[in-house]
Amino acid sequence: MKEELQVYDNVLQLIGNTPLIQLKKITQGIKGDIFAKVEGFNPGHSTKDRIALYIIEEAERKGILKPGDTIIETTSGNTGFSIAMVSIIKGYECILAVSSKSSNDKIDMLRTMGAKVYVCPANVAADDPRSYYQVAHRLHQEIKDSVYINQYFNELNMDAHFSSTGPEIWKQTEGKITHLIACSGTGGTISGTARYLKEQNPEVKVIGIDAYGSVLKKYHETREFDAEEIYPYRIEGLGKNLIPTATDFDAIDKFVKVTDEESAHTARELAKTEGLFVGYTSGAAMQGLKQLAHEGEFDENSKVVLIFPDHGSRYMSKIYNDKWMNEQGFFDTQNEAAAQEIEF
Ligand code: PMP
Repeated sequence: MKEELQVYDNVLQLIGNTPLIQLKKITQGIKGDIFAKVEGFNPGHSTKDRIALYIIEEAERKGILKPGDTIIETTSGNTGFSIAMVSIIKGYECILAVSSKSSNDKIDMLRTMGAKVYVCPANVAADDPRSYYQVAHRLHQEIKDSVYINQYFNELNMDAHFSSTGPEIWKQTEGKITHLIACSGTGGTISGTARYLKEQNPEVKVIGIDAYGSVLKKYHETREFDAEEIYPYRIEGLGKNLIPTATDFDAIDKFVKVTDEESAHTARELAKTEGLFVGYTSGAAMQGLKQLAHEGEFDENSKVVLIFPDHGSRYMSKIYNDKWMNEQGFFDTQNEAAAQEIEF
């Protein structure tokens, strides 16, 4: 049992200092010690709490933000929730421009957290004035005292992880980490953490997890944007159809691609073996580790840290829903879903 009992001034004081948990069952047969940095322990249930707090406090330090001002972002996901949470405590207005593809649950959740949500049509080009990018941009120009977080193109995203996730992992592994494995979306988590760890020990190997259907791996290898790599996939938060400037590709040694199906099954396996109820991309990171182990990446001396970006509760209607899994064709026997239903 955890021993310290503390009283906090507000929920923001609970951001960061997330646990590093050794994985001992799902890793059987894999060489080395494997640990997960479980970011679902943040109060907003994801790693995005770190960037929301850091970017907002940087703006305060620079005198750009004062109470009552407005914070704008384009997201219905974890970042939106974290910005809304920080805004409540610090007294800012929070405006989120989201795509009409976002589920009602997500929109309700953001509104519950005090955000003003603009729902923008999903089926228009990014440069269409109705798109959520353009709406956010226009609102930022119209609202005098506003800050646009712009996580894909904001270097502070990386700095947030350089100053928190990196040092925490270094301390928690007593400087013995040999590999960092993290999903790359904006790239803030992997690049910021990698920059810190490599500053301590340039030998630390950093491996990014990318999705089939995303351009990141190919860009890393060729430094060219290849539109042919792009096609739809299901994992949310991982991979991208553009090159984010919040990613430092030089800090990453290589990328591994994972499939929607294997990542979903691996996320479910994490719950069943390790008791860790984590999000889809945590399954993707674990899946990437399995593939790397298969390729002989690790030996007995490896100390591997995986980042698990968020909590499983946000995926109840997706990977943790048998009907959804079945609809995606992810249950391949006749069929696992039915087998699960008759268990009592
Ligand atoms: N997993 C999830 C669930 C996310 O929301 C994100 C953020 N897009 C990531 C992984 C990737 O993190 P980052 O943006 O820092 O690369």
